[in-house]
Amino acid sequence: MSWQDLIRDVQDYPQPGVLFKDITPVLADPGAFAEVVEELGALFDEADKVVGIEARGFILAAPVAYNIGAGFVPVRKKGKLPAETLEESYDLEYGSATIEVHSDAFRPGDRVVIVDDVLATGGTAAAAVELVKRAGAEVTGVAVLMELSFLKGRERLPGVDLRSLVTV
Ligand code: IMP
Repeated sequence: MSWQDLIRDVQDYPQPGVLFKDITPVLADPGAFAEVVEELGALFDEADKVVGIEARGFILAAPVAYNIGAGFVPVRKKGKLPAETLEESYDLEYGSATIEVHSDAFRPGDRVVIVDDVLATGGTAAAAVELVKRAGAEVTGVAVLMELSFLKGRERLPGVDLRSLVTV
């Protein structure tokens, strides 16, 4: 059995009509977790920093950063980072969300890989790309465990090298 088989579909979460892809069984399996971390790290192995997007992105981005010898930088929901931040807002299906990064998280020209678990509409990843660029670093690429291609998130990331381990 491959790690892909451990991704679980949860119907009607977080709201009716949505089919949620739950990766927690992948994380709970030692072999599957190790493979996913290896494979994500292999997508882009030349980076100075790996950005993880709160919250599931942290779980994957931190071991990827460790594996490829890069630093880890958290992108968090507004109000969670203690020092001076840059922020970026984006539209959700209902309302909007704001994410932040520390203004001094990167050195000028740092090569940055952004890691998250799932690319859905692409709004979160697009906002993270903007944050990294505004903070003076260079986005080498975006690496996700799973891309939900029917939501066309890729179209919100023109010119960005987006790579996914699984596409559904
Ligand atoms: P987007 O901004 O619509 O691309 O949504 C992506 C964000 O929502 C990511 O940070 C994901 O963690 C989360 N997300 C959206 N859909 C799913 C899903 O089906 N499973 C797990 N996470 C999801």
